[in-house]
Amino acid sequence: ASRFEGVTMAPADPILGVSEAFKADTDPMKLNLGVGAYRTEELQPKVLDVVKKAESLMLERGENKEYLPIEGLAAFNKATAELLLGADNPILQQGRVATIQGLSGTGSLRLAGAFIERYFPGAKVLISSPTWGNHKNIFNDSRVPWSEYRYYDPKTVGLDFDGMIADIKAAPEGSFVLLHGCAHNPTGIDPTPEQWEKIADVIEEKNHIPFFDVAYQGFASGSLDQDASSVRLFAARGMEVFVAQSYSKNLGLYAERIGAINVICSSPDVATRVKSQLKRIARPMYSNPPVHGARIVANVVGDPTLFNEWKVEMEAMAGRIKNVRQKLYDSLSVKDKTGKDWSFILKQIGMFSFTGLNKEQSDNMTDKWHIFMTKDGRISLAGLSLAKCEYLADAILDSFY
Ligand code: PLP
Repeated sequence: ASRFEGVTMAPADPILGVSEAFKADTDPMKLNLGVGAYRTEELQPKVLDVVKKAESLMLERGENKEYLPIEGLAAFNKATAELLLGADNPILQQGRVATIQGLSGTGSLRLAGAFIERYFPGAKVLISSPTWGNHKNIFNDSRVPWSEYRYYDPKTVGLDFDGMIADIKAAPEGSFVLLHGCAHNPTGIDPTPEQWEKIADVIEEKNHIPFFDVAYQGFASGSLDQDASSVRLFAARGMEVFVAQSYSKNLGLYAERIGAINVICSSPDVATRVKSQLKRIARPMYSNPPVHGARIVANVVGDPTLFNEWKVEMEAMAGRIKNVRQKLYDSLSVKDKTGKDWSFILKQIGMFSFTGLNKEQSDNMTDKWHIFMTKDGRISLAGLSLAKCEYLADAILDSFY
């Protein structure tokens, strides 16, 4: 008998489980629109040219593999905060940001979860309904209570702004409000600049703490600066803000696990203390972070030539997704004889489109059409090619009606 009889089978992860099922399917038309990972028009993974250049620079320099400090690579931490806030942001000169390198977006969120649990016992994190599936896991495992605020309105396939504001207002004073910095996952629907101002008003009024998850900087508009404008707007008001960052998508560094947690504080003294405690949390969890991705980011963001080349590649990736978005919309509009308005697809931004397909319809997409996607109706347009748009439109219409 095993001592592990009490260990039950865990359910497959709703996002990463989709990729496993995709691999097992042998149909030639199969399409993986589950995970948010960028693919070329040939549907192959892409290593950015700037990443290859940074890596060859690193090889030439013959850098060693010594441990990093607990807080990570200093050049990375500097570069990542600058990318987020803008290099000339006075907040940086004032030393008000505690930045520590994390294990990509997920690990950075998890560090913040542990910090909240330790220093804000009982405080709730408000998360959007719906949100990226892993947010709930992260706060559950951090033992941080959470509840949802209204975000998506199925009637308009748009933002339920009034619902969102009302729910943030109704939450206990001093809650954390988790916001997607740009390219909301899974809906692809972001607040307008005017709406962001109102969201900031309510958060200030209620003494809440804004907590941005920035996993797609550059992927919403194609511009790294514009996509950070939500965070910068809050920061410019002098608010204290948490920001988790990820380089999985915008630099294509998925497997390098590179990101950061930034805490914008009211004074340099507070920032120093916060940073010391984040390090204290990281040390027994994983001791110190990996160096390879950190060096890549530091080289790309820190070198004006590579930085400009990255911007061009970033725009090209965002542009390819916009093209398939347009083609999918065109195909649906031509093929759908009911006159249904599919323009919500064009209004959504970032890697994803929230189709409005329910679980049964999503099952039909997979079972009959070999199109793998999450069961909430989300499709990753980053995994779609122009050549497959018509096929996808046929599948959506067959599943929808
Ligand atoms: N946050 C959101 C909203 C995401 O969509 C993702 C990835 O899909 C992440 C965070 C974290 O990804 P990673 O841990 O690879 O940086």
